[in-house]
Amino acid sequence: MKFVFGPVPSRRLGQSLGIDPVPLKTCNWNCVYCQLGRTIPLTNERREYIPREEIIAEVNQALASHTPGEIDWVTFVGSGETTLHASIGWLIRQVKSLTHLPVAVITNGSLLYLPEIRRELSPADAVLPSLDAGNARLYRKLNRPHPEVSFKRLVGGLAAFRKEYQGKLWVEVMLVRGLNDSGPALIEIAAALKEIQPDEVHILQPDRPPVETWVQPPDEEGLLRARAILGNIARVVHPASGSFDLSCAKSLVDAVVGIITRHPMREEELVETLEHFSPGEVNETLTELEMSGRAQIVERYGTRFWSASPARYPELKPKTKGV
Ligand code: SF4
Repeated sequence: MKFVFGPVPSRRLGQSLGIDPVPLKTCNWNCVYCQLGRTIPLTNERREYIPREEIIAEVNQALASHTPGEIDWVTFVGSGETTLHASIGWLIRQVKSLTHLPVAVITNGSLLYLPEIRRELSPADAVLPSLDAGNARLYRKLNRPHPEVSFKRLVGGLAAFRKEYQGKLWVEVMLVRGLNDSGPALIEIAAALKEIQPDEVHILQPDRPPVETWVQPPDEEGLLRARAILGNIARVVHPASGSFDLSCAKSLVDAVVGIITRHPMREEELVETLEHFSPGEVNETLTELEMSGRAQIVERYGTRFWSASPARYPELKPKTKGV
């Protein structure tokens, strides 16, 4: 499968079957903490990056190959900004017609200022947009957006969506030490959240390899400060643990590449998953992965992460096949 992956354990969504509607890396932001490498170039063009029928055919197949209880949510998430796919609304409606499972959309929220995007996302059961900054200067520093998606549009779009949307609106705030975890920065974020009125605020910290090497998660004090300033509906969401499902692809290597393209894995997590699916073949699979030229190893916080080769981390040169 090329566009559907997992289920993978998710911090909020249990075992989540992922649908990735855009190729790596299609985004109108270039966040300093992005786990998918740099966005080169930034794009704000909405189009059918992947034929929508092909995506739905894979969703059908994935749903048919899992028994009830193996999937908790079907989630649009992936190699960039989900709402840049021109048929995101059609895709959500199709998935809703195929399953009774709840559907979530992870988005940076930057296009919600457009009425058509708000309409397209309305059938989803949960929408999880981002708000990492409470002013335009910090937004540009942290999220490094395309010039068309301004801070004013972001906050205005989220607030307008809240007024119309009947599902769960869970705003994500990714904390980066020294950037948005100070008292004044958090007070400004809280003011923007007051305007938006989400159902919940999820405080996240980078736990996958951030693109920029200098990005650090907040310390305990920063997390406590965020929890206190962002109010009662805010909670710290810790990294999920659980099993990654590798059964949805032709080969083990394909399945791993399918996951790490959207979700880089810590080496021990990958080894544990491989031991479960293919005991006795872990070393061979890791070697095959590296030799295939489809995966790369990124080191952050003293930890080795496996990521897809095309992801651009500044200190790593692109790999050539078989090296
Ligand atoms: S974190 Fe999300 S919004 Fe930010 S650059 Fe990465 S894919 Fe785009």
